[in-house]
Amino acid sequence: MTKTLSPDVVVVGAGNAALCAALAAEEKGQSVLVLERAPEAERGGNSRFTAGAMRVVYDDVSDLQQLMPELTESEIANTDFGAYTRDEFYDDMGRVTQYRSDPDLTEALIEGSFSTLKWMNRKGVRFMPMYGRQAFKVDGKFKFWGGLTVEAWGGGEGLISQLHDAACKRNIRIEYEARALKLVTDDTGITSVEIKRQGKTEIIRCKAIILASGGFEANSEWRTRYLGPGWELAKVRGTRFNTGDGLKMAIDIGAATTGNWSGCHAVGWDRNAPEFGDLDVGDGFQKHSYPLGIMVNANGERFVDEGADFRNYTYAKYGREVLMQPQQFAWQVFDARVADLLRDEYRIRQATRVQSDTLDGLADKLEGVDGQVFLDTVLKYNNAIDAEVKFDPTVKDGRGTEGLKINKSNWANPLDMPPYVAYQITCGITFTFGGLKVDKYAQVIDDDGHVIQGLYAAGELVGGLFYFNYPGGTGLTSGAVFGKIAGASAGDYLNKS
Ligand SMILES: Cc1cc2nc3c(=O)[nH]c(=O)nc-3n(C[C@H](O)[C@H](O)[C@H](O)COP(=O)(O)OP(=O)(O)OC[C@H]3O[C@@H](n4cnc5c(N)ncnc54)[C@H](O)[C@@H]3O)c2cc1C
Repeated sequence: MTKTLSPDVVVVGAGNAALCAALAAEEKGQSVLVLERAPEAERGGNSRFTAGAMRVVYDDVSDLQQLMPELTESEIANTDFGAYTRDEFYDDMGRVTQYRSDPDLTEALIEGSFSTLKWMNRKGVRFMPMYGRQAFKVDGKFKFWGGLTVEAWGGGEGLISQLHDAACKRNIRIEYEARALKLVTDDTGITSVEIKRQGKTEIIRCKAIILASGGFEANSEWRTRYLGPGWELAKVRGTRFNTGDGLKMAIDIGAATTGNWSGCHAVGWDRNAPEFGDLDVGDGFQKHSYPLGIMVNANGERFVDEGADFRNYTYAKYGREVLMQPQQFAWQVFDARVADLLRDEYRIRQATRVQSDTLDGLADKLEGVDGQVFLDTVLKYNNAIDAEVKFDPTVKDGRGTEGLKINKSNWANPLDMPPYVAYQITCGITFTFGGLKVDKYAQVIDDDGHVIQGLYAAGELVGGLFYFNYPGGTGLTSGAVFGKIAGASAGDYLNKS
């Protein structure tokens, strides 16, 4: 065992939360070492796989201009950006988590969202409006919907490379293939971390450690243990390296756990996607336009209200619904009426897609599905639509069905305009909800309710924020907000000691 370097602060992981933490600790005058388990080519964790969508409070376009100084006059003139107020963010967090979300953490997240993105922008991260996925054109003008307007320039790939550049400029060292495995403490708190680098064990002495090494979504045994039977069969949407190391290390030294340990973020994901994420495809295997069509299972039956809410508020819980269907798959079905409205991920080469000019022909092509029941499902669905209500994808239009076992609440159009297309999906897990107990300063709390001196956590491995469901675009914002808080808290702690 060798002893190396003695940085002030060690950050475990090099995703969005970790790099924000590293930048904030450096700002407080600390020397920072970042340990990343992945090789450099696979750097960036789940954050790199994202579209870079970030949920942020803004009152009007002038707020957005502070985050995106490059917004042009014609973009402003041709876009209805609306607003996303702090009250709306509180309502969304409360509603989708069934009011379980920790109030202190929720407050820190929402109140810190705008200032944190501004801070990131000052550090060199650029943002842009999310026209491609969150706006529809209405009467010649783009209109944003669902409270999600801002994305990092270049998506997840861009976010990670801009954060790495920012870290590099500030002499923050990042060591790859360096896997943190054990936290060492004495009565004063954290004293060092044990790591494995290229097969060799090393001890790194430090007084503060920030854990930002993701959840346990890539660990099939833990998934089955905590999320339940069947979860070992889910595909992993992102990195293969988030196997719960940070959680285990902290629990081993007495950290308290909290949150929805049997819950996770999981979506409809291409049935034939690889076991883990593919950086060349990014989030392209997801299939999020189901509010515009219907989803059927192997029995040929619908199983959820596809139009219950904007997709931002249902997609993260519908992956679980798909996993619970016979043989863990479903087909999403659309017709020509909405083909142009489908998101860009429907046009990737790797999509599992079938098409036919007739519904009978499509039924024959839906592998694994009872075709006769499928045709009956479509007939009943078409006949149950309230056609008096106008279709409008930018609002919850109330154009639903009546009298079905499972009604569709919004955006219901008859499937009657050929060609018909269908996409086969299964469940793709994104990240797990259970995690470490932290306070609003991102300090990790132990089983007796005391702060573990020198230990901080941020990102996916923080518990208590998300339960059952999640408002789209909150993961990156939460990682950034709590990463910044963790880095600043660690810096203040060291400056005082
Ligand atoms: C396909 C996909 C699309 C998504 N889209 C969005 C989106 O548009 N907007 C949004 O807000 N969220 C999105 N998410 C969720 C988002 O990715 C996460 O909420 C967020 O990135 C988590 O950030 P993090 O820094 O906590 O973890 P990560 O970015 O996963 O970083 C954790 C890092 O820790 C490293 N690590 C693990 N164990 C160790 C160890 N023992 N030692 C050292 N390093 C270790 C990992 O290699 C990894 O690099 C998406 C996720 C996926 C998979």
